[in-house]
Amino acid sequence: MAPIQKECDYLVLGGGSGGLASARRASAMYGAKAIAVEVDRLGGTCVNVGCVPKKITWNAAAIAEMLHKEVKPYGFSIQETGPFDWEGFTTKRENYVKRLNGIYEKNLNNDKVEFLHGLATFQDPHTVRVTLDDKSEVDIKAKKILVAVGGHPNIPSNIQGSELGITSDGFFELRKQPKKVAVVGAGYIAIEMAGMFNALGTETHLFYRHDKFLRTFDPMIQDKIATEYQRQGMHLHANSSQSKVEDLGNGLKKLHYKDSNGEGTLDVDTVLWAIGRSPELEKLNLEITGVKLNDKGHIIVDDYQNTNIDHIYSLGDVCDKGFELTPVAIAAGRRLSDRLFGGKSDAKLAYENIPSVVFAHPEVGSTGLTEPEAREKYGSDNIKVYQTSFIDMYYSMMEQEDKSPTAYKVICAGKEEKVVGLHILGRSSAEILQGFGVAIKMGATKADFDRCVAIHPTAAEELVTLK
Ligand SMILES: Cc1cc2nc3c(=O)[nH]c(=O)nc-3n(C[C@H](O)[C@H](O)[C@H](O)COP(=O)(O)OP(=O)(O)OC[C@H]3O[C@@H](n4cnc5c(N)ncnc54)[C@H](O)[C@@H]3O)c2cc1C
Repeated sequence: MAPIQKECDYLVLGGGSGGLASARRASAMYGAKAIAVEVDRLGGTCVNVGCVPKKITWNAAAIAEMLHKEVKPYGFSIQETGPFDWEGFTTKRENYVKRLNGIYEKNLNNDKVEFLHGLATFQDPHTVRVTLDDKSEVDIKAKKILVAVGGHPNIPSNIQGSELGITSDGFFELRKQPKKVAVVGAGYIAIEMAGMFNALGTETHLFYRHDKFLRTFDPMIQDKIATEYQRQGMHLHANSSQSKVEDLGNGLKKLHYKDSNGEGTLDVDTVLWAIGRSPELEKLNLEITGVKLNDKGHIIVDDYQNTNIDHIYSLGDVCDKGFELTPVAIAAGRRLSDRLFGGKSDAKLAYENIPSVVFAHPEVGSTGLTEPEAREKYGSDNIKVYQTSFIDMYYSMMEQEDKSPTAYKVICAGKEEKVVGLHILGRSSAEILQGFGVAIKMGATKADFDRCVAIHPTAAEELVTLK
């Protein structure tokens, strides 16, 4: 059967964070005829295999920590009568995600965005073919096309048996709690997943290539989280590499590795690769459009999300902006529609001072420059660093060995001491950072911080009383 023909003002490829936000704004606010195409589940990475199920699992891990270490010292005598119900928990979590998928579809309907469930492939620079679930095809000619197809987790290609391991996607498919895991990676996804496993009682081994992990974060964060993870019983394998994964049967795997202590093997239920993500461009046939990619395969865009081809735009994880975060994709998507359909010719996302967090144990929050970046940009003589490390009053009732650290660093530049970096670690850091993020985005100085009267007793008050 010949493909059905359609035309629209705005064709959005990828029904994830960025694509949906952009399509909805274009249609609902500006009346553009928009079509969104998604091959998998609506909501993309964030909703299905990212932020949402991750944060719910992190909540479970935080509750486990509270139950095991914090409840008793506060005088409660709660006793667990069974192990953590991983299967029940993950089923419930999955049901919640499915509800969100439905809500996302309803939102598209409400905003009059036409939704096609299928695989998009370029036929020529202006035409995209969508192969629907029933294999019928729709050819869409669009005036403007947004490529927001996100990315996927990598599996190492040079390690024998690497396919026996899972990725972050597989983490959310685990229906049984592993007894012992090897998490390989040094970025925030590896650190979060290792932290959740460990807090939920899985013996956790974290393997990373260099001497430190979270290497794009401030050194204070790197050091404190490593020390803390070790204190919490996680096994850290710095300077490590892996050569082979063997299937031992009964769900067990043998990981062959090398670390600072020499060669070794580890029998685990799960090997989880969290070694980075790549753009999801394999099936899009983007080559036919002439859109340029960088050396890592990300779509090159300018500050306005323009590619080198006039009517094709890109944003989110697939583009080369380097901020793989949901709110970044959403904000870029909305600004793009404001510009393309709302007459706001200057609308664009400012890619600086973007707050980000790591749901580690404890949480980490970060915005602006790290100390080494600030020293390089402004010169050490023009930088002043305020730093503190303390035990949150919350832990006053705990035994010494159960006290988790809090550490804050404020990096200021120039005579006016403009805050150019903020790095915080400790309870509720993710929540604390949002407000400070606003202040820093507005150009706050250290004096502005100091002028804000402290809220007592809190941990965050230390940020406005730093000496
Ligand atoms: C484990 C994990 C935890 C994370 N935690 C956080 C967090 O706590 N906070 C945060 O801000 N960010 C987090 N992120 C990152 C966040 O999920 C991404 O930055 C965000 O989802 C990117 O949005 P996007 O629109 O660029 O792409 P996506 O959300 O990935 O959406 C792209 C969509 O395009 C679809 N697609 C691809 N190819 C085609 C095609 N040819 N045809 C049709 N459809 C196609 C895909 O199926 C996908 O649904 C996390 C990511 C992971 C993996």
